[in-house]
Amino acid sequence: MQNDAFANALAQFEIAEDLLELEENIAVQLKSPQKLLRVSVPVKMDDGRLRVFTGYRSQFNDARGPFKGGIRFHPEVNESEVMALSAWMTWKTAVVGLPLGGGKGGVIVNPAELSEGELERLSRGYIDAIYKLIGPEVDVPAPDVYTNPKIMGWMLDEYEKLVGRQQKSVITGKPLSIGGSQARGYSTAQGAVYVLDEAVNRIGLERGASVAIQGFGNAGAFMAKLLAKEGYKIIALSDSKGAIMDVGGLDVAQVAEHKKRSGSVAGFPGSRAIEDILSLETDILVPAALENSINEANAGLIRAKLIIELANGPVTPEADKILEEKNILVVPDILANAGGVAVSYFEQVQNSYNYYWSEAEVLAKLEETMKRSFEEAWAEKEKHKTSMRMGAYVLAVGRVAQAMRDRGRI
Ligand code: GLU
Repeated sequence: MQNDAFANALAQFEIAEDLLELEENIAVQLKSPQKLLRVSVPVKMDDGRLRVFTGYRSQFNDARGPFKGGIRFHPEVNESEVMALSAWMTWKTAVVGLPLGGGKGGVIVNPAELSEGELERLSRGYIDAIYKLIGPEVDVPAPDVYTNPKIMGWMLDEYEKLVGRQQKSVITGKPLSIGGSQARGYSTAQGAVYVLDEAVNRIGLERGASVAIQGFGNAGAFMAKLLAKEGYKIIALSDSKGAIMDVGGLDVAQVAEHKKRSGSVAGFPGSRAIEDILSLETDILVPAALENSINEANAGLIRAKLIIELANGPVTPEADKILEEKNILVVPDILANAGGVAVSYFEQVQNSYNYYWSEAEVLAKLEETMKRSFEEAWAEKEKHKTSMRMGAYVLAVGRVAQAMRDRGRI
């Protein structure tokens, strides 16, 4: 099924399983989450009525360390998606060598329809429902689509009230005033910029190459800003309401201002409205929205030379085959967007020392992590004569499998 997220995650895993010649007793354990929780979260709405929201937490694998991964608030959250995202988190933490496992949570909700008070009660209610299953040494949530540091602050507060003590490292992506890390706010994009620089060198593109970015949320907007600063030409941007283009290069700061005022990048003065950002003539394409945006139906139309997956799961396995035939280099999500969780891990380390690093220190560690991981994944790609995705998978799944063996989980 093309758009079933977990089926796609499994299809990717199975290719890596073959390349690694993984033993059956391990492979079979890596095809479903270790634990999957579904909860009902009752929330008193401002009008006095009670609404019950459905939430999930999928704990995929903890062989290498505590489950780790964000919480998504989105109307399309579903069980398959949460499971897929938790599997991808497992490979993501492993590919960049963090001593963590993988998990993911979500609540079916459109947060834009809630008041601030309702959003806070939902965030606290979700923690009330899952708190027995999380903890600094068990499972550590973080932000994801439509969640942010403010929400992490409420969630931390709720958790600490329930357990009756300070436990800052139970959640990451917190505000700086309560144990957040420098650079965490833009670390997903920053990590992707480090791997993009590596990829650009490998395929002989220049700084100043053209870039189109699909999605202007936390990841996409910071990516646009950082790449523009590095001298890349941002020729197209989009969000859920529309797409814009300017072959001369868009002024990203101005576009962000425009979106703040109007709610969308669409209609940015001086830009041209476009139907489809994916098929554009551009050197680099950055999908930074949701899963499955590049699929069997549109992969054939893509003209970019390099795709950097800033979103999780933006390219389906069917589309992967088409892109490979077209010789387009795809730097996969589990590597390209791992900067977020890498700095989440640094945040936890700082929390446990109760000693905080400067922004420059965090960035130096992030750069080292991302560049080393890119090189390691590239080496696997060459060794197995496979795609970059599978190079990263072989590295990641191999590390998780080794931890399973060493624990005797065979
Ligand atoms: N939600 C982010 C991701 O998909 C960050 C997860 C984390 O920091 O734990 O990678």
